[in-house]
Amino acid sequence: MQAIELSIEFFPPQTPEGAEKLRTVRERLAVLQPAFFSVTYGAGGSTRERTFATVQEIAAAGFEAAPHLSCIGASRAQLRAILKEYEEAGIRRIVALRGDLPSGVGTTGELRYASELVEFIRAETGRRFILEVAAYPEWHPQAKSPRDDLLAFQRKVAAGADSAITQYFYNLDAYLHFVDEVRALGIDIPIVPGIMPITSFARLARFSDACGAEIPRWMRRKFESFGDDSASIRAFGLDVVTDLCQRLLEAGAPGLHFYCMNQAEPTLAICERLGLGPHAR
Ligand code: FAD
Repeated sequence: MQAIELSIEFFPPQTPEGAEKLRTVRERLAVLQPAFFSVTYGAGGSTRERTFATVQEIAAAGFEAAPHLSCIGASRAQLRAILKEYEEAGIRRIVALRGDLPSGVGTTGELRYASELVEFIRAETGRRFILEVAAYPEWHPQAKSPRDDLLAFQRKVAAGADSAITQYFYNLDAYLHFVDEVRALGIDIPIVPGIMPITSFARLARFSDACGAEIPRWMRRKFESFGDDSASIRAFGLDVVTDLCQRLLEAGAPGLHFYCMNQAEPTLAICERLGLGPHAR
């Protein structure tokens, strides 16, 4: 198999116990030698301090850490202060997003879209950071049309994005079609598929409805047929997600970005089956 770049996403833990658990998870996942660990940013900046603390700890342990940063609800001055903090902490990579407003919060902030955030970061810090942006093979749920979403993606790249990570998906064809469409526009940045391991079907179904990721009918029906049998759900989830990753890599995907949900085992199991795990090294 070709050399591929792995990256792994965490959310910032809320408690000291969660932080301790994440340290163990990170140490276990380190055997995969990921290019970076990224850390999400809560809606409207609600995890600013925790995201920063988590990123600092990852960097102090000798790994590349990439904070996510969203612009919705923020002022330019707030964003400038965060960028300064990251610059001083030696951070090299940022996942730049619009984000979503937490319910009940009315103000959208000074920048409306991720493309404006990318433009702002480039204007403030030049080429200091590698900028990752989000991509949506099944289209962003608020996009007026697939074409509008594609053009929105093109604006992010024109503003200075270096690479993209997709929303997770289970339809290989959606990813391949999206990459074809993007390449037809002359965009050549890497489009790294986001991979969501499946450990609980009920949780995944709720989450997928909200973010516009389709669970194909054949998978949904099969998961439903397992009822409360969590071992069968995990086994089938491992089969389908490993198969998706295998076919993505065969189709030329430049890497895999794992939404690991702060758990080591599902990502390790998939990578081991792909021949990317510790046993392969
Ligand atoms: P944008 O690229 O700005 O797009 C948002 C919508 O606006 C799309 O429908 C697009 O078509 C439309 N649009 C864009 N530009 C224009 C324009 N000029 N005119 C009209 N319409 C336009 N959320 C978090 O809160 N925290 C996280 O840490 C986080 N991490 C993520 C990581 C990845 C890899 C991904 C894929 C998503 C992540 N999200 C996160 C979710 C993301 O914030 C939401 O999907 C959000 O709704 C859109 O963010 P975006 O950066 O894709 O926005």
